[in-house]
Amino acid sequence: MLFGAIEAGGTKFVCAIGNEDGEVHEKVVIDTISPEVTMPKVMEFFQGKNIQALGVGCFGPIDVNKESPTYGYITSTPKIKWQQYNFVGELEEKLHVPIAFDSDVNVAALGEKLLGAGRDVNSCMYITVGTGIGAGYYVNGKTLSGISHPEMGHTLVLPHPKDQQFEGNCPFHGPNCLEGMAAGPAIEKRWGMKGVDLPQDHVAWELEAYYLAQALMNFVMVVSPEKIVMGGGVMKQKQLFPFIYDALEELLAGYLDFPQLKKGNMKDYIVPPELGDEAGVKGALMSAVMLGG
Ligand code: ADP
Ligand code: ZN
Repeated sequence: MLFGAIEAGGTKFVCAIGNEDGEVHEKVVIDTISPEVTMPKVMEFFQGKNIQALGVGCFGPIDVNKESPTYGYITSTPKIKWQQYNFVGELEEKLHVPIAFDSDVNVAALGEKLLGAGRDVNSCMYITVGTGIGAGYYVNGKTLSGISHPEMGHTLVLPHPKDQQFEGNCPFHGPNCLEGMAAGPAIEKRWGMKGVDLPQDHVAWELEAYYLAQALMNFVMVVSPEKIVMGGGVMKQKQLFPFIYDALEELLAGYLDFPQLKKGNMKDYIVPPELGDEAGVKGALMSAVMLGG
């Protein structure tokens, strides 16, 4: 049987067709311009392909509450052309298949849980550190949602002692927001150059790890994930991982006595995506498979 997947990102939509084992047979990348320009190309890709169901992982905020009158909408996104867009409604109308709809990071967590780094555990968190910061969580057979999908990227953080002058980059939360202090654009704003151009031994990475470790400390305390996958452009700086392990162990301060949380073992606990850049699209595919045909 064939299933469809859409990873709807702020710069590109990755659309794919694959099977119930998460194998992708066909894939296309479409620019995220506006619903009027982007969606006809998306529909064209899926039409006539005989998919049984479609899984969508979408940039947010989105409405994932099935009881809500605006279920399936992209809601208050800063991308103006996509505000209040009835994404699921439009897909259903054109493609006539069941649709799974979730946040991009929840779907990536699902992908890594079923096919990647989390395959041997029951719960897997996926964190992306890129243009924004987002985190999704898959536990006991489903992704996490409440009033909405989680917005863990805007977790409260304390500024680093060496970083007291920086006002942050989040218009809502100033210097006390993880995304505002640690996403790619925050690094660029603070240092006047892109992260990719900063030397690996620059103090930027110590600061970066300090913010990420604060968030991880909170995530570990709140939902106790068995595996944490960290992806996105900024995490391509692999030297960040040992800095994060150091900072997290210090923050945990020995309170939780589990082998995963010992610094020497954290390399198996907090890991890069095993699916590389495909966690989102493969997760979306598996969310369609889970709907059945
Ligand atoms: P997006 O979040 O838009 O899907 P990415 O995950 O690629 O895309 O994140 C883009 C952000 O990550 C940009 O702010 C960019 O400067 C930063 N970035 C990308 N590659 C690197 C790298 N190798 N080192 C540090 N920062 C990077
Ligand atoms: Zn914020």
